[in-house]
Amino acid sequence: MNRQALDDLKRQILLLDYLQAHDWRPTRRISRGRLMGLCPLHPDHQPSFLVDPLKSLFYCYGCGRGGDVIRFAELYHQVKFPQALSMLHQWRGLAPLLHEVAGFYRIQLDRHSEAVEYLYRRGVRSPELIEHMQIGYAPGGCVRSWLMQLGHSIATLREAGLVTAGGYDAFIHRIVFPLEGNLYGRSISASAPPHRFLPGAKGGLYAWEHARRYPEVILVEGLFDYAALGQAGFHNVTCAMGNQLNLHQYRQICDRPRTVYLAFDADANGSGQKAAQSLACRLTEQGINVRTISLPDGHDPNSFFVQGGDAQQFQSLLEAAQ
Ligand SMILES: [Zn+2]
Repeated sequence: MNRQALDDLKRQILLLDYLQAHDWRPTRRISRGRLMGLCPLHPDHQPSFLVDPLKSLFYCYGCGRGGDVIRFAELYHQVKFPQALSMLHQWRGLAPLLHEVAGFYRIQLDRHSEAVEYLYRRGVRSPELIEHMQIGYAPGGCVRSWLMQLGHSIATLREAGLVTAGGYDAFIHRIVFPLEGNLYGRSISASAPPHRFLPGAKGGLYAWEHARRYPEVILVEGLFDYAALGQAGFHNVTCAMGNQLNLHQYRQICDRPRTVYLAFDADANGSGQKAAQSLACRLTEQGINVRTISLPDGHDPNSFFVQGGDAQQFQSLLEAAQ
């Protein structure tokens, strides 16, 4: 890739946009429009990460690293230069598209009573929470034509995984949650596989930039667990979208000493418990204080609340966790 192409890429992807899309928030503004915030590259307790949005450059006074958006992508994703470039290329094409799609699905939710009823059955009722999580609905049979009307090519939609090889919407009858660089779709019909992501990484821990502020964090498997706990007033919650953490999520949760409560599913086959056990070992090695919450048999945090559990009862489970 020549100098000109690199400069084009950097002009098209502003560092601040990229940081914000990865949940970075400035904590204060300093002279000449520059911003300070917590460093996403090392365990940071007081803002030491300096961003100059005009020059699209960063420098961290804590870990001493700095550079442009490509350097940031290398460090953040722990990849080499060529991989960082291809991730940025993909992100440049995908981020605005996913943002559009999530907005479209958000509107569909209010138009499809079967989706709203499903959310009710799963105990998700708070309009504020639905808005906050940007929960949407993919009815199927409409996103392809809508996006093509907006000028996107079928090739782009296939590459993003929004449309299947056969040309149909990939998400049909699914509740949709926007993630960092992906979408998660939960089928509302029993005949389809329940969980589906677009191709590519599932991203970091859900809402991590918010949860990381707490010295005690509750880690759950699913976004419906996250939603149920949020509604019950627990805000120190994050979600791994599954019971296996990817490397990025693992590094996030280990970014400083803290207590992590594992609230994984109490599956009949014991898979949630096993995953929790092995994760607990790995986190403990990193100096994390781990507590495992024992839910009643066959329950996950979502079903615990749906079947009448309340915040006080969950608080007792937290206090009993070991
Ligand atoms: Zn740093």
